[in-house]
Amino acid sequence: KPLVIAIDGPAASGKSSTAQWVAQLLNVHHVDSGAFYRAITLLALGTGVAPELWTSQAVLAEAHRITWRLTERSVLPLVDGAEHDEAMRDAPVTRQVSRVAQMAAVRHWVNDQVRAAGAATDVVVDGRDIGTAVFPTAALKVFLVADPWERARRRLIQRLGRRPNDAEIAEETEALVARDALDAAQSAPARDAITIDTTTVTQEEQVERIVALAKA
Ligand code: C5P
Repeated sequence: KPLVIAIDGPAASGKSSTAQWVAQLLNVHHVDSGAFYRAITLLALGTGVAPELWTSQAVLAEAHRITWRLTERSVLPLVDGAEHDEAMRDAPVTRQVSRVAQMAAVRHWVNDQVRAAGAATDVVVDGRDIGTAVFPTAALKVFLVADPWERARRRLIQRLGRRPNDAEIAEETEALVARDALDAAQSAPARDAITIDTTTVTQEEQVERIVALAKA
């Protein structure tokens, strides 16, 4: 039975980069479950229908265009056979993705994709509900938390490539907190998750801690 490590947490808590690094050290594949929500949201935006009018049927009618393949270290979602990482991370998708993620049928579809990947190979999966809904029997469950201001600051450094000012951090904090509220329904830690507060911890330390837990 393939190994599954679940890394959950709120927006910009460092889940994806941490999961990627842990997967590399353990020599397994990284799955970014949020990328599937982002890919389907990108296609929904492409329909031209106003987001307020989206239905799960209409959104899922686009799902056949999304596939995934195994690269050396990750499970890579593809849209019409190609990578669309930049568009998937852009503001329009980020603004609407929680709306799509609230649709039960969409969650069902994403969970099927992620479970299929986890059945094919050993994985470190990051998301919101991986340890609770997707892989409740995961060998290790980690829940990353961090102060919202610090999450916003880190996200902006990544996006802008420079040190953000306080006004920029305040605006980003507000956006993150709003998205957390929309994602709250699926974002509780599993009972058996180990919570790591990364506010004052370097990414290297948190990665080492998770790898140690995985090997214990
Ligand atoms: O992790 P990321 O911020 O890229 O996820 C984008 C969005 O996808 C989240 O805001 C949330 O709405 C949704 N999501 C989810 N469950 C997951 C992963 C992501 O609902 N397991």
